[in-house]
Amino acid sequence: MFSQFALHERLLKAVAELNFVEPTPVQAAAIPLALQGRDLRVTAQTGSGKTAAFVLPVLNRLVDLKQKRVEIRALILLPTRELAQQTLKEIERFAQFTFIKAGMITGGEDFKEQAAMLRKVPDILVGTPGRMLEQLNAGNLKLEHVQVVVLDEADRMLDMGFSDDVERLCNECPNREQTLLFSATTGGAGLREMIGKVLKTPEHLMLNNVSQLSEGTRQQIITADHNQHKEEIVQWLLANETYQKAIIFTNTRVMADRIYGHLVAKDFKAFVLHGDKDQKDRKLAIERLKQGGAKVLVATDVAARGLDVDGLDLVINFDMPRSGDEYVHRIGRTGRAGNEGLAISLICHGDWNLMSSIERYLKQSFERRVIKEVKGTYSGPKKVKASGKAVGVKKKKTDKKGDKKVAAKKKPANRPKASAPLVSQDGLAPLKRRKPAPAAE
Ligand code: AMP
Repeated sequence: MFSQFALHERLLKAVAELNFVEPTPVQAAAIPLALQGRDLRVTAQTGSGKTAAFVLPVLNRLVDLKQKRVEIRALILLPTRELAQQTLKEIERFAQFTFIKAGMITGGEDFKEQAAMLRKVPDILVGTPGRMLEQLNAGNLKLEHVQVVVLDEADRMLDMGFSDDVERLCNECPNREQTLLFSATTGGAGLREMIGKVLKTPEHLMLNNVSQLSEGTRQQIITADHNQHKEEIVQWLLANETYQKAIIFTNTRVMADRIYGHLVAKDFKAFVLHGDKDQKDRKLAIERLKQGGAKVLVATDVAARGLDVDGLDLVINFDMPRSGDEYVHRIGRTGRAGNEGLAISLICHGDWNLMSSIERYLKQSFERRVIKEVKGTYSGPKKVKASGKAVGVKKKKTDKKGDKKVAAKKKPANRPKASAPLVSQDGLAPLKRRKPAPAAE
């Protein structure tokens, strides 16, 4: 129960209003420590409820402040505009019974309007590092009264080359009392370096055993002969699968546009989202999907992070993501907050090795699925070394729709219990993992 936390009554009222009853594992682990003012390094996947895990303690810190909107008191840095928008919304929902105001600064929005917003001085500022620095350099942003800094999806910010900007912005907050760093993965040397620089003796909460990934999401693969065949499979799935909303991931913008074009030509209500789209198009795509005007989003990984759309229950990997972590982020879009989801990866000859390395990385084996209406000739290599079994040797089951399935059970994995997250004091506890093989295509 949320009432177990020492949260201000105005925040508990909002929590109740939003029908949050049971805290998720990351909330149960992080909120009490964050409320004590500790620096935290939290490894938790998207969809785990991590936003509330930092928003509530930040609001709690500010709720009794006598002087509102005089100085910026909290800074939340994150990698993408979409994530910033979602986080801002979450703050506004939790702050609805308080006088706390939040503002947002991201690229792709009007610079002058942002400067005007900054003159009104929000209590909490959310945004992406690049534009935040531009506003700082233009003299529009003062951060010396910031008490708490949150770095959300820090691993992603590093991947996107924001490490110097993040560090500079942290240095602009010399009076901060607390820093909270969240990442979906345990990251590499770059993340460790940043942790060493910006966090003070952090507690490390590891809620993200990758093999614990999306308990509510079934993971399947369907083999395909070539990209055109993959498109046929996609169209079959969109027409026949039971789902509320679907997202199709590609590795390139060109492929996203191509699939989108073909879907629209077949009268699917689809949208496309990738880095070439301007901010207006991106907002529109996400809004349409949220409101149900479009059921299908074709996207590159730019949309994979932080996208939180209710009812997104089907993820199709048209192209296999290039790493296990990217796979985790993509399918983290579905099965959120305990809902059911289905993730289907389409596998050509050249994708097979990558797919099996991701299976090993996740310590799971994906369900092999064959759809007779769109069955091709490729069905995987004859022998699979990891298990020593030939693909297709297992007895085939037939489901309600007549699709054949080769059931593959999840391998038992060490799973941290919700009440007992893995905690290390040094903040650098390593997670053993195997690097996926490079994409063969
Ligand atoms: P996040 O990982 O923060 O993006 O959260 C994923 C989704 O779960 C969001 O839609 C949240 O509003 C929702 N959520 C987070 N925590 C809870 C909770 N304790 N109870 C119900 N829904 C939650």
